[in-house]
Amino acid sequence: MITILMPVYNEGEFIYQNVVSVDELLKRENIEHQFLLIDDGSRDSSWQEMSRLADDRGNVSLIRLSRNFGKEAALCAGLENAAGDAVLVMDSDLQHPPERIPEMVRLWREEGYDVVEGVKSDRGKESLAGKIAALAFYRTFRKTTGIDIGVASDFKLLDRSVVEAWKTLPEKNTFFRGLSAWVGYKRYAMPFEVAPRAGGETKWTFKALVKLAVNSITAYTAAPLFLVFWLGVLMGIGAVVMTVQTLFMYFAHKAETGFSTVILLLLFIGSAVMISLSIIGLYIAKIYDEVKGRPRYLIRSMRGKAVLDDDLVTLSRR
Ligand code: UDP
Ligand code: MG
Repeated sequence: MITILMPVYNEGEFIYQNVVSVDELLKRENIEHQFLLIDDGSRDSSWQEMSRLADDRGNVSLIRLSRNFGKEAALCAGLENAAGDAVLVMDSDLQHPPERIPEMVRLWREEGYDVVEGVKSDRGKESLAGKIAALAFYRTFRKTTGIDIGVASDFKLLDRSVVEAWKTLPEKNTFFRGLSAWVGYKRYAMPFEVAPRAGGETKWTFKALVKLAVNSITAYTAAPLFLVFWLGVLMGIGAVVMTVQTLFMYFAHKAETGFSTVILLLLFIGSAVMISLSIIGLYIAKIYDEVKGRPRYLIRSMRGKAVLDDDLVTLSRR
């Protein structure tokens, strides 16, 4: 039994049709499945449409978060509560092609892969700026964390054992793509082409993407702190050189010509200090977040049988 997990945020117009088409496709392929849809605090008709799905189809279960917690939190809510021998995560806008699901299931069932991950063979329709930003982010992520998530996507099939492993990770600042690479296991990378959106528009704002990028890098590595260290060393060397020069000028009675140097130095040191402080501050903010121990998401309501048995809980695990 496979649970198809979809995060849903303001997809009211298309969600019904999208789920029905996936359902029909899987039925034709004789893949035993059920749906778990997570409403990430949608403000449109998504929840009504999802309830309609659950009424019409016996194999659709729902979780409704109390507000918009973001896709990562929605995925967490889904993974922590999903039943089934495997969980398949995909976008509800069908940008992850459902036709590839049978192949993923076969790789899992017959070839014994624990993680079958969709790898984007091209990034679909995206602005040039979006492409450059994504490439820059993945490069930074790989260089600083040593984990290559390259063209990874959230289109993944996870075996039950991997889902259980993921559940033992205690941190709150998750990055699904990164964590599922981090846990290891027998993995298979399946290239797929990103389809155009089934309708509506992307739910990501530039601000949300920058936040995701910064969060996911700082969640995996303290490399930016080392960067600050090396910056400091560099500044130190510069300072020694400048001291020698300044002293020389002083003894040569030409001191006042060094005035601009002083200003430059002040500027440099000022900016270095600012950058360092902000990076340190970032990590402190993260510690603060983890220490607060707040749950990652709150569940407003649940229905259906795709969720685990002991789930009358209204809070997440933590
Ligand atoms: N999504 C979500 N919460 C959010 C933003 C997005 O659950 O705050 C869901 C959305 O409904 C969709 C998936 O995440 O199923 C991918 O979002 P979208 O298609 O907007 O992103 P893109 O494909 O442009 O990266
Ligand atoms: Mg999309």
